[in-house]
Amino acid sequence: MSEVCPNCGLPKELCVCEAIAKESEKIRIFEVKKRYGKISTLVQGMSRDVDSKGVLRELKTRLACGGTLKDGVIELQGRHREKVKAILVKLGFKEDQIETG
Ligand SMILES: [Zn+2]
Repeated sequence: MSEVCPNCGLPKELCVCEAIAKESEKIRIFEVKKRYGKISTLVQGMSRDVDSKGVLRELKTRLACGGTLKDGVIELQGRHREKVKAILVKLGFKEDQIETG
């Protein structure tokens, strides 16, 4: 007897639940105007399995900007949409799961 997936009830070797979860994961990067005309870049939709704190640390280092993590949403100071996308791809996210705009 092989192990059975608790989600779909199929044997683990036939189960595709994890693959489906990864594929349906959509990350959105967008810029918002804050008070006094300041721009922030938000990164939304990262799954709980992702080390968001690690991603934030990486983004802050590479972009040399301030940033916070709140309710799973990363907020970076400044306009970085395209750069953030490039960095996320380098970190292993798939380009077609990232939406900008
Ligand atoms: Zn399953």
